[in-house]
Formats: sequence, C-alpha cells, structure tokens
Amino acid sequence: MKTIEGISASYGYAIGPAFVYKRAELVIDSCIIEDPEAELTRLAGAVETARQQLDKVYEKALQESGKEHAEIFRAQTMMLDDPELMGKVKKLVEEEKQNVESALSETVENYAGIMEALDDEYLSARALDIRDVGSRVLRILLGVAESPTEGLLTPSIIIAKDLTPSDTILLDKTYVLGFCTSKGGATSHTAILARSLGLPAVVGAGKKVRKVKNGTSLIVDGDSGIVIVKPDEITLADYLLRQETFVKVKGVAAKVAHEPAITTDGYQVEVVANIGSADGIRSALDSGAEGVGLLRSEFLYLERNSLPSEEEQYKSYKTIADAFGKMPVILRSLDVGGDKDIPYIDLPLEDNPFLGVRAIRLCLSRPQLFKPQLRAALRAGYGNNLKLMFPMVATVDEVLKTRELLEECRVELRLEGKDIAEEMEIGIMIEIPAAAIMADQLADVVDFFSIGTNDLSQYTLAADRTNAAVAKIAAGFQPAVFRLIKQVIEAAHAKGKWVGLCGEMAGELLAIPILLGLGLDEFSMNPPAIPYAKLLIRSISMEKARQVAAQALNQTSSDAIRALIQEQVPEVNLG
Ligand code: PEP
Ligand code: MG
Repeated sequence: MKTIEGISASYGYAIGPAFVYKRAELVIDSCIIEDPEAELTRLAGAVETARQQLDKVYEKALQESGKEHAEIFRAQTMMLDDPELMGKVKKLVEEEKQNVESALSETVENYAGIMEALDDEYLSARALDIRDVGSRVLRILLGVAESPTEGLLTPSIIIAKDLTPSDTILLDKTYVLGFCTSKGGATSHTAILARSLGLPAVVGAGKKVRKVKNGTSLIVDGDSGIVIVKPDEITLADYLLRQETFVKVKGVAAKVAHEPAITTDGYQVEVVANIGSADGIRSALDSGAEGVGLLRSEFLYLERNSLPSEEEQYKSYKTIADAFGKMPVILRSLDVGGDKDIPYIDLPLEDNPFLGVRAIRLCLSRPQLFKPQLRAALRAGYGNNLKLMFPMVATVDEVLKTRELLEECRVELRLEGKDIAEEMEIGIMIEIPAAAIMADQLADVVDFFSIGTNDLSQYTLAADRTNAAVAKIAAGFQPAVFRLIKQVIEAAHAKGKWVGLCGEMAGELLAIPILLGLGLDEFSMNPPAIPYAKLLIRSISMEKARQVAAQALNQTSSDAIRALIQEQVPEVNLG
C-alpha cells in the first residue's frame, strides 16, 4: 500500500481500478515545403473541421455540465480565429517554408510556454486550452483519431497527467468513479468538471501518479486530497464504510437543504452562496442558498477584449439580483490585479502584484473604469436586495473615497432620471490584517463586513496563496487568523453591524463550529457545500460552539485546532 499526497479538488471517495488516460503521441516531422499556398489551404481545412468538432463538443458539454463549462469550448473556437496566433503560423509557412504541422506545433508551444512561465494558475489553465486546440488541429492534419478512451469499459478512476477540457467532455461518465491528475491545481479544468459532476478528485499529485498502471486498485480520497495505491484490507474496509456514510449523508443533507440553519439551542445564521456569474444561480438555489454572499464580478471582465459597458453590467447584475427576489445578493466590485489580469486594461507590471495596485486600489486610481460599475450596481439594485461590497480595503480613507465616488454616481443618475437603489447596503471585505485591526473604525463607515479568509490568511501569514510550497501555511486554519476573525466580529457587533465570511473556510466543516462560536452572522460558500454546512449547524449547540471557539484560539497550530474540533465536535463527521 502506498499513499500519494495531492490537492483536494472535489469531495467524496472513489474506490476502484485505475484507468490510465494517455493521448496518442503526435509525431511532428518538420520539413521544407515548396508550395506554401497548398499548405495553408490544408491548414484552413483542418481549422474548419476543428471548428465543427468544437461546436459538437460545446453542445455535449452544455448538456452534461452546463453553460459555464461549455464556454471553455467557445473560448477555444475563438483561439482558432486569433489573428496573432494564426498570423504567426502563416508567417512560418510563407516566409520560412515550414510545413504546417511543424509551424503550428512550434507556435502553440511558444504561446503556451510564455503563459506557463508567468506562474499564474489561471494562465496555466489557458495554456492547456491553447495546447488542447492546437492538438485538435494537428490530429486532424495527421489523421489521428479524436478520443483515446477505448478500453474504458468498467467503472474506473481516471489517472492522467492533466485532462484537457476536450478529454474530460469526451469521457463516458458512466464509467468514471473519480479523477486523479499529477498536474493541475484546485481551479484546473479537471477540478471544475469533477465538482460539477459531484465526483471525487485529487489533482496536483505529482510524478508518482504516473507510475500507476492500468487496473491497479486505488482509493481517491477527495476530502483529504490523497490517493491510496493498492490499499490493504483494513484501509479498504474503512473507506468502504466512509463511502457508504458519505452517500447517505449526501441524501439526507440534500433533503433538508432548504430548511434554515438553526443550532439545537435556537440560534439562527444565514447560509448563502459564492457565485461567479449568472450560471451559478440555479445551483445556489437548488442547494438551499439563502442568497448570495459573494458575487465575483470579474466574470464580466475576463475572456474578452474590451470593458463591459455600464448597460451590459446593469443587465447582468439585475438578472442575478432579481433571481433571488427578496434574498440578499452581495455584488463585489472588480477585484483584479494580484493573480488576476485583464490584458486589455493594461495593468502595470509589478514585482509583487499581490501587494500592488489590486482591487479597490486599482478601481480608485481609475474612476473611468470604476464609475460604470458603481452606476450599474446602483441601477441594478432598484427593486431587489442587492448590496455592494469592496475588496482589499486597507484603510478608512479608501472607504471614504469610494463612498464619495458612489455618491457622485447617485447624483448623476438622479439627474438623468434613472431608477436607483437609494438605501443600498454598503460593505467591505476584511482580507488585509490592517483592516481587521482597524475594524472598530471601519465599522463606523460601512453597513457590514465580509471576511475574505483566502487573502486574510495569505497576508497574515506572509504565504502566497498561489505558491504550492507554502500552501499549507496559507490554508488559513491558523490560530492567528481565528484571533483576527474574533476581533473583527466583536468590533462590528459593538457598532451594531453584521459580519459574514466568504473565504473557502466558510464551507469547511471543521471551521464551522469555531466561526459559529465566534458569532459569525453569515456563512458564504460554494453551493455544493451548503447542504452539509446547514446539516452541521443544525446538529450542534451555540453553547458548545462558543466553548470550542474559545479553546481553538488558544491552540498553537492549525493541526492542534483540527484535532480539537475532531475530538470535541464529532458531529463534523456528519455520520
Ligand atoms: C477571499 O480572499 O477570501 C475571497 C473570498 O476573495 P478571492 O478569493 O476572490 O480573493
Ligand atoms: Mg480576496
């Protein structure tokens, strides 16, 4: 028996044989050609076939995994039309007389290599897309079949280096128990697909995974992010039991997902969803979300070539806010910079972008970028319960400046005779230690806080959230972070303001009793986590939560806190 550590990408347990997913190697011969025109005609034909294939793959993805996932293939079709990429290929064919296979493969590798070198999780995923689309065209040129899934005839755990979007959509899901990849992070396509299918997955498990042979008996533990190769009998029995409990709990949690989250001693908290676009509305409502605690507005700005207009933003925010009726929807203003780039707005190149002109700092420095979003939000909030929240606030001054700009927009819109939300609640994210420390003063100038533990942890522990080498430190389950959370909640409550938390921690079962005990009012998480979080909150008392929260703050490490909760609150196992 051997255990391989990776990154947990999707909850649950898969037990079964390995199916090693390997694409046929594309052998690219390079040669000097005589007739560039004929070569480019071949390319145009292959591109057209690729476009038709991608249309079909898009339809399949739409039916199986929804619009969000399917959009990946629309983006790939756009790559086929990218004048820069295709221009480079043509140039190599026309000027260097390279054969089209070698010109295409060289250009795609150059592009993908540059993106990967930037050490950015999002761009690495895009590099995979470019390679995926490039391989599709090359396969057509070389006459190689589209899918290497022959042989997948029994339910199996898919083992791969990384799965491209096309790979994942072509897999026959009736035979997929779970996934394990050697590369990739929590936002890789494999991870996204596994979550949307509700299948367990571990990603980024390293080279050892590649040694696993077809048919080897495996366990993928998506909760702990580990893969067990050739498990012994005791381990297998243990996991079969865990799997049974998981399936049972899933059914129970789903049945009561729409009931409120009230502790056994009658204390109610709000459980809401984190969503990234209108596509998240359905899964949020189906999961029992009582609103949206974080609508990441970046969705409207990414994967395009120019800024979204005020009108486009207005319509989009309004569709989402209206879908939730009287329930709250918290729109977060644009949070770019750091690890999120928008090429067309020309962000400054910075040595430390996470400590640079990110989020509210960028928006305040560019009112022409910020004001259309503020105006769109004020208009979209008319007649529903839309609230507005600002990310990465460090000082009171930033809030005052933002409010001034917001007021300016209000005055303009009134003069233009537009309907606007006059009483919109305004909040800020607490994700920089300075903001947590100054929470008492910040509470005077906002209506609510939402704690962003993903960033609060990285800034408190000086551990880059995108750097795998310090991932465990940045994971946030640290006494230092809980102490800051306590301080923020107390400062806000003293001023009569409410506090939510929308970092990944809100959906972590081990963190929930502590956050509850510290007095958190609102828990905002990815929709699939909502039924479990509600089930847990309903099974414990506030009295117990307060007791363990006090103890957790006095532990010396994250491991000690986890052990404490496991021991003191067995309900976290939901079994
Ligand atoms: C956070 O930092 O916790 C958060 C929710 O924001 P994001 O992950 O989008 O930075
Ligand atoms: Mg953040």
